[in-house]
Amino acid sequence: MRGLNTATVIDLLNRLRADRHLELGVTAAGRSAGIHATATAIASVGAAIAAITDGICPLQTSTDGSRADQCWRDVRDACDQAAQHTARLADQVTRLAAEALLVVTEMEPVHYRGSITSRHGTHVLAGPCDCWRCRHRGDRLRLSLLLEDFDDLVCVRPRSVTAYPDEPHDLPAADLGDVLHVAVGALPPSLTVGHAIAVVQNLILFTGRIRAVVGFWATTIDARLHGGSSPSSTAPTRPITATS
Ligand SMILES: [Zn+2]
Repeated sequence: MRGLNTATVIDLLNRLRADRHLELGVTAAGRSAGIHATATAIASVGAAIAAITDGICPLQTSTDGSRADQCWRDVRDACDQAAQHTARLADQVTRLAAEALLVVTEMEPVHYRGSITSRHGTHVLAGPCDCWRCRHRGDRLRLSLLLEDFDDLVCVRPRSVTAYPDEPHDLPAADLGDVLHVAVGALPPSLTVGHAIAVVQNLILFTGRIRAVVGFWATTIDARLHGGSSPSSTAPTRPITATS
């Protein structure tokens, strides 16, 4: 009986976990990349659920009478709802990835593009500006150069700073989509009851594992922004919202 290549899919899902990519947790771009890969994984599983629904209860079977009883209609409805729920979740998590790119914490790389054009380029967010003027306002920043511990720019407006745009990674979100696509394509055109149950159990396994992946990223990000027990966390840092 052909299945959904379960071992490979589970391995790829595990490789999306934040605790396997500690280096990504320490920059806004890395956190965004992790969440975005998770969203892509959710969308891939959602697409697999939708495709498999047609394998379990093809639409024509409700008209030709072969699977027209209430039991099969219930199965089809449950699968349709699962596919829609997964698609909505993928959209929500994709939006979170975009928002995460804008939340920078201290000692993270940023791009400065403010009024001092000669200084445009990559800096590190050193912290809030503590000059006598800004100390009272509390809304300006200090920036250092990479690998330097002195302030290169002070009194910087948050809107003059954007998060560093890219973080290289090897998150296997695209591989997961490819494996699921091939596995779904290899299923027989119309599944037997036993085969259908096994496939649905696989999908439940995948969605449970994705929930764990989302949890790992949530814990890592929470620890970064607020302090906590994540192995990736450093001292609690002060987040700022950069512009897009
Ligand atoms: Zn200042």
